Amino acid sequence: MKFSTLVAGLSLGWLSALQAAEVNVYSARQQELIKPLLDKFTASSGVKVNLITGKPDELLTRIRQEGRNSPADVLISTDVGRLYRAKQQGLLQPVESTLLTSQIPAQYRDPAKLWFGLTMRARPILYVPGKVDPAELSTIENLADAKWRGRICIRSSDNVYNQSMVAGMIATIGADATAKWAADFAKNFAQPPKGGDRDQVKAAAAGVCDIAIANTYYLAAMLEDPADKAAASSVKVFWPNQQDRGAHVNISGAAVLKHAPNQAQAKQLLEYMVGAEAQQWYATANHEYPVLASVPVSPVLQGFGPFKADTLSLDKLGELNQQALMLMDQAGWK
Ligand code: FE
Repeated sequence: MKFSTLVAGLSLGWLSALQAAEVNVYSARQQELIKPLLDKFTASSGVKVNLITGKPDELLTRIRQEGRNSPADVLISTDVGRLYRAKQQGLLQPVESTLLTSQIPAQYRDPAKLWFGLTMRARPILYVPGKVDPAELSTIENLADAKWRGRICIRSSDNVYNQSMVAGMIATIGADATAKWAADFAKNFAQPPKGGDRDQVKAAAAGVCDIAIANTYYLAAMLEDPADKAAASSVKVFWPNQQDRGAHVNISGAAVLKHAPNQAQAKQLLEYMVGAEAQQWYATANHEYPVLASVPVSPVLQGFGPFKADTLSLDKLGELNQQALMLMDQAGWK
């Protein structure tokens, strides 16, 4: 049907109903990293977006407390662990969309269609050239080797990115092998874990350690920040596990809430976010990798080189989160 025919076929009542359409988004992603995309969605769809941002666990608590009366339609999270938590707490509803399931690779979405990955981030090894010969590097598992004693910076085990990374290892090499690895890996720390991912890069730049573990978007953001550029430039990316399971990846993603008052608009927003233009903008603004393989990665990420990503279903990372945390704790990973 031609657009003019479609418009002519709509009564005035229909048009005003369309104009009044809105969707309520609860986002753990900061306002400036999501708002421009939501504005683009409004411009193209006419659906007004009401945005509430907050810390991930606070948003989940709020949604639980609001219960059946919650106005929340869409939850946006920066880690699969939180989406899994929302799923376990019964806060989500499945979205039936052939567009979402055909566009997003299976490992980056929930098997029960409760959450969908929108961008990908990786957690590679960052090394200081001159102190580390990349030929010595191979896998994350190898970082437990005694040759790395006192040379590694990584943040604490209470961080969800590390929990997801270790959960991925449990899923692949088993709990016993991962426990042994974690105990030896923790012996190789240059200092007791402290700070965030950026701080690990800064510590490596300052000579505290020769290897840092950090998510790709932190390094990319530091490279574009005049204050952090020098520190970020002093490390190089090494993609681990390229001969076996691939480098550990995580996602940022979205889900539709169980009591969403605007289900149709919520689905419309999710579908918009996997469109080529939205993918490119969203991934670039956040220095992340698009989940759509056809969308090119940003120049700064291209600089990190291509890599093979682990194809493990990210649902597993949520499932094994508690076990990972316990195991790290027992290994003495503070
Ligand atoms: Fe982060």
